[in-house]
Amino acid sequence: KKNVLIIGAGGVAQVVAHKCAQNNDVLGDIHIASRTVAKCEAIRASIHEKGNLKTPGVLEVHQLDALDIEATKELIRKTKASIVINVGAPFINMSVLQACIETGAAYIDTAIHEDPLKICETPPWYGNYEWKRAEACEKAGVTAILGAGFDPGVVNAYAALAAQEYFDTLDSIDIIDVNAGNHGRYFATNFDPETNFREFTGRVWSWQNRQWTQNQMFEIRKEWDLPVVGTRTTYMTGHDEIHSLSKNLDVPFVRFWMGFSDHYINVFTVLKNLGLLSEQPIKLDNGQEVVPLKVVKAVLPDPASLAPNYTGKTCIGDLVKGKKDGKEREVFIYNVADHKEAFEEVGSQAISYTAGVPAVAAAMLIATGEWDVKKMANVEELPPRPFLKVLDKLGLPTRIRDEQGDRELSSTF
Ligand code: NDP
Repeated sequence: KKNVLIIGAGGVAQVVAHKCAQNNDVLGDIHIASRTVAKCEAIRASIHEKGNLKTPGVLEVHQLDALDIEATKELIRKTKASIVINVGAPFINMSVLQACIETGAAYIDTAIHEDPLKICETPPWYGNYEWKRAEACEKAGVTAILGAGFDPGVVNAYAALAAQEYFDTLDSIDIIDVNAGNHGRYFATNFDPETNFREFTGRVWSWQNRQWTQNQMFEIRKEWDLPVVGTRTTYMTGHDEIHSLSKNLDVPFVRFWMGFSDHYINVFTVLKNLGLLSEQPIKLDNGQEVVPLKVVKAVLPDPASLAPNYTGKTCIGDLVKGKKDGKEREVFIYNVADHKEAFEEVGSQAISYTAGVPAVAAAMLIATGEWDVKKMANVEELPPRPFLKVLDKLGLPTRIRDEQGDRELSSTF
């Protein structure tokens, strides 16, 4: 399988495009398509500027509205793409997936589908949209890998590795995501403010005692002592992978914890309490209608503009507890990424880097056949070792902290 069509031209797509270009000997022709073609052109220019196209080959850009299934099918056929990496806004998942099912191309995304008018839908999240197409994928023999970013994505593979190799029974999986970086601006979101805020305005869902449990955002706080970034405050948050891991692994607790500074929470709380994070249109006194969330987005820094001055590191991993050979144990499987190093390599900060690189690793495993499973799968349903091995090669090494200390796992893959 070869030739990749990347859909979207935002922060994550920038990383995906650079990494695909660096591996075009495996992936073949690279096509970038988005609503705004100028953004695709800028990505193409930065790939050439950094000399990231490994072997001379096709690197083309296209204008596409991916909500238009027919247009998406036509572009898949025209580009002869056999792998589509969807890193556009989360509203286009279902139309892109449908285009893949109808053309036979493999599908990869990094986040669950969202309805633009519904904030924080209730679980089962994958069951609301994607999994309804599982049968159609299998019938068409289409490989569809869901949530192949970092979280969801790599953290699902860490959980699978823990379940398969480090435990006989699992008690809990706590996914911890800390960005200890600094962008130097008063307030900014690290990716699209709309997507970012939507994650935190609704209720928080977690899997506790094998049941869905609800809390308010910023209600449950926990400090962790983490490698490299030190002691960090996190809050329990809802996240895609809680749903799939709770279904696919036999584990009573799955929780997701995201690091937030007090400053972020203060600004967020003010915006939210004023009604400025609402996705419902309001009328101005001149009769004009505006969506408050869109206004906030327009005045905040463009997340892509943060990358050049971003410093510091991210630490994302799975703290897994359970039993092995009758004994209790605890392992933390994680990655640390550096904002500045990511920018120097591909022109993006580490959050986009950690999200984009895994999607390319998944594409490479489809190209080599190792993950070309001809059906729909979440990452934890696929063999974790080949994935972690490719990630190591692409710049996201896996580390582990357990009773034997803290070390890189890479040499064992
Ligand atoms: P951006 O907002 O920076 O980029 C989204 C891109 O999608 C833009 O280029 C936008 O178009 C394009 N787009 C939107 N609608 C359409 C459409 N109808 N047709 C074609 N293109 C469209 O987002 P990010 O790069 O930050 O994130 C991309 C995805 O990655 C999101 O789904 C996000 O949730 C996910 N993500 C996953 C992570 C993980 O670890 N799993 C972490 C971070 C993000 P235009 O060119 O007009 O602007």
